[in-house]
Amino acid sequence: MDVSLIRSGSFIGVFLICMILQWIIPSRKFEKDRWKYMVSNIVLVVCNNLILLLMPLVPYQASIYANNHSIGLLNLFDIGVSELVVGFFFLDIVIYFQHRVFHKVPLFWRLHSMHHVDPMLDTTSGLRFHPIEIILSNFIKIITILVLGIAPATVLIFEVVLNALSMFNHSNLNIPEPLERVLNKVLITPALHTIHHSIIIKETQSNYGFSVPWWDKIFGTFYAKGKYPQAKIHIGMIPMPEEKYSLFPGMLVQPFL
Ligand SMILES: [Zn+2]
Repeated sequence: MDVSLIRSGSFIGVFLICMILQWIIPSRKFEKDRWKYMVSNIVLVVCNNLILLLMPLVPYQASIYANNHSIGLLNLFDIGVSELVVGFFFLDIVIYFQHRVFHKVPLFWRLHSMHHVDPMLDTTSGLRFHPIEIILSNFIKIITILVLGIAPATVLIFEVVLNALSMFNHSNLNIPEPLERVLNKVLITPALHTIHHSIIIKETQSNYGFSVPWWDKIFGTFYAKGKYPQAKIHIGMIPMPEEKYSLFPGMLVQPFL
């Protein structure tokens, strides 16, 4: 099956499911002008994908290169299908630490802050990343793939799953409490990720994971609950002086203001 078909099919499928679910069972009331942010975030992801088309090397191509030339640690040993698990979780840990670095280093935080400026969360917020952050993130993934020799199938599955989970955990979804209690043991749920988008700095510096909550638990950045109940968490950052810097295309220059 065509790789781009798998990517676009799963992307559109998960996007539509999350959009419909958050419309049926929203966690908080959609603001009146929310559509402006949704459109901005969607236009941004289209631009980011066009930029990726222009990149000389993307993670998936790097994994094919590593595979064909037997480059990387995992290519030294034959560990069979467990390569999928090892490669997947290693990439996920790298993304977890990358997210921490983007919060810690002032220059990177400027770029990542564009993601946090969003005053409300919904499915489209999971796609709201500055193009330079996307390029840097791809570069980090490529290095990881070449050093470890992660297989193309693993990279494809990882990217599809990460994308889907980012849309899921940014969705404005009110997951029933019993289901939430089970889900948040194995997944970063919208409730957990909302804490990461809180205006309270201590909470912003928690729940960095995009998929599983385990890395936050292991490395001491996990917050099961914020200071305020879910519906009362103040999302975002100090509002931009002008709304145009929170929306496309002004959002692209926001990190440099
Ligand atoms: Zn963040």
